[in-house]
Amino acid sequence: MAVPQNKVTRSRRNMRRAHDSLVAANPAECPNCGELKRPHHVCASCGHYDDREIVAMTEEVDLDDDAA
Ligand SMILES: [Zn+2]
Repeated sequence: MAVPQNKVTRSRRNMRRAHDSLVAANPAECPNCGELKRPHHVCASCGHYDDREIVAMTEEVDLDDDAA
């Protein structure tokens, strides 16, 4: 089994982990529906981007319906 040649000190370990922190999301308001959305992404609730509808939103499909 590979064994580390030298002990990693608290200082070096913590310096390595200094770049590991998570950054908070930066949500922006959708200009079409006002919902919070990720910047530079299509709005998840209305499907708009740059004032155009990119993804057509449909009514929710009822999977319990026996018609299928
Ligand atoms: Zn929207």
